[in-house]
Amino acid sequence: MGTVVLKLTKEKQDTVISDFGRHQVSPPPYARFAARTTGCILTVYNSGKVMFQGQEAETVAARYGSPVTKKAASTASGSLPEGFANWSVVGSDEVGKGDFFGPLVVVAAYVDSTKIKLVRELGVRDSKNVSDPEIRTIARDLHAVIPYEYRILHNPDYNQMQRTMTQGKMTALLHNAALNGLLAQLEEPPQAILIDQFAEKATYYKHLSGETKQVKDNVYFSTKAEGLHVAVAAASILARAIFLKEMDKLSRQTGIEIPKGAGAKVDQVAASLLLKYGPERLHEWTKYHFANTKKAEALAEKRNRP
Ligand code: MN
Repeated sequence: MGTVVLKLTKEKQDTVISDFGRHQVSPPPYARFAARTTGCILTVYNSGKVMFQGQEAETVAARYGSPVTKKAASTASGSLPEGFANWSVVGSDEVGKGDFFGPLVVVAAYVDSTKIKLVRELGVRDSKNVSDPEIRTIARDLHAVIPYEYRILHNPDYNQMQRTMTQGKMTALLHNAALNGLLAQLEEPPQAILIDQFAEKATYYKHLSGETKQVKDNVYFSTKAEGLHVAVAAASILARAIFLKEMDKLSRQTGIEIPKGAGAKVDQVAASLLLKYGPERLHEWTKYHFANTKKAEALAEKRNRP
């Protein structure tokens, strides 16, 4: 499905409205008119932007002007359309792939163009530069401001799935599920979807080949996508906040402060948990196929020796 956005004068907007008056439907927020025909959905925003979507989007739009932003021919990373940072975009990102403890979390978040400024003012930026306490604060604010959808893959399920698929495939399935969930909530489709790239596009869709509902329209992949649209940065912050909450839960449950990542500290804590609770519990709390498991076992054995 194509999407074309035109920036039109008041006069041209009125022409569109009178041309499509008999196909009128109720407009979404921030819009003064919307219409639906068999081949095209069009929306006249208060900003003067007119969005055409559907199979005939390009043909219909061409009657009124030429696009402000042409959709890039390729969706390979590094080729986002001009002005993309100001589009209404769904961004998605994941957290927890490299952490021995804690779940895999994916968030898809929608920031429409009218909210970009507000979302930035809340402090949303590349989450690598944001401290944990601030992540929690910003996430709380975002929760009230933008629609988003999350999926958590807890480690018992992760370990089960890991027997038959790669972590990359699990991640792809979670992104697709979060995106489907979010799109179903939205009153209008976003101009684009930007996935923080963790796999090549072809690989991503290969992972989804068994899925009946694959989100494919207007999807872009890019590495370092947090810096390319604030929706991805928002998704990343929300995912990190959810991940932190899960880690808090685990710390309370085990009585030991659970570290992030997969480093030496993690091995030490895992060894303590192994001695205190046994291998079955450790299995439930961790991504068991990580090398940390063997290291923790060796450490535990050493500590057990007289
Ligand atoms: Mn990412």
